Amino acid sequence: MKPASFSYHRARDVPGATRSLAELGGEAKIIAGGQSLVPMMNFRLARPRHLVDIGGLRELRYLRTADDGLHIGALTTHHDVETAPESVTGPGFAVLREGMRWLGHLPIRTRGTIGGSLAHGDATAEWGLLTVLLDARVVAENSAGRRRVIPAGELFLGFFTTTLEHDELIVEVIFPRRAPHAAITEFARRHGDFATVAAAVSLDVSDGTVHSGRVVLGGVAEVPCRSAAAEAVLAEGGPELFERCAEAAAEAIDPPSDANGSADYRRALTRELVAAACAKAAS
Ligand code: FAD
Repeated sequence: MKPASFSYHRARDVPGATRSLAELGGEAKIIAGGQSLVPMMNFRLARPRHLVDIGGLRELRYLRTADDGLHIGALTTHHDVETAPESVTGPGFAVLREGMRWLGHLPIRTRGTIGGSLAHGDATAEWGLLTVLLDARVVAENSAGRRRVIPAGELFLGFFTTTLEHDELIVEVIFPRRAPHAAITEFARRHGDFATVAAAVSLDVSDGTVHSGRVVLGGVAEVPCRSAAAEAVLAEGGPELFERCAEAAAEAIDPPSDANGSADYRRALTRELVAAACAKAAS
């Protein structure tokens, strides 16, 4: 299929991109890697009248460490992260590399970007889970040049909906804390598909004991969400910790039923995936 007609605008810099968004109004959309937007346009699920291409803004493609954590530019591709050595990310971010291996296929990962994925707001996208898991901050700039820092947990509003304003461009994502004991796992019907259910876990471990942790689920609600019930079990400790944590996560959700699986199936997947992610994170 072909997209409806649109006009094409190439941004030369970030102010130019946000200015175009403001001037062209609600019918304009940013295009970054095009890996979500172009299929949607081809299926006529999206019909923007104007595309503002930020693909040439090389200044938004980087990974670098600073005192406040790991900074990843919005145009950094999934594959850039997948292949970034520890000497670039600093220690404690292996879970980011691991997460990218679940994401689509190599051609998609070489074009799709972290900013595009977060702005798209799919509840099963690996970047959604990872940013919530690691307390990431999403930095967006608007047409007045104002920068807004959005905690990842406050970015996702609902089904493919974020709190980004129309003239805001994601410019950077900051991961403030290392997660040496973290893992992400998921189930998809075919390799490379979006997950039916995904689970990400980060554990606080010292002297070989788990003291607390964070559990984030994708595919069980409209947005990637933390499981307070599962996290309470981790904080409580005790025997068969990971099994009880997984059970609590599965019991607390009210997942949707759709062509990819019933609510019961998603609950069963959640139980398996949380237990597996806990075990992997601990190891
Ligand atoms: P685009 O497609 O260019 O844009 C997506 C949306 O974000 C648009 O609304 C655009 O206006 C907006 N946008 C883009 N950049 C910015 C920015 N910097 N600031 C504000 N708004 C912006 N993703 C997964 O997470 N997991 C998967 O398993 C997965 N499987 C896939 C399988 C297939 C076959 C395909 C085609 C895609 C798959 N994807 C998957 C999607 C892929 O990760 C996309 O790369 C990503 O969702 C969007 O990134 P993009 O750079 O391509 O954004």
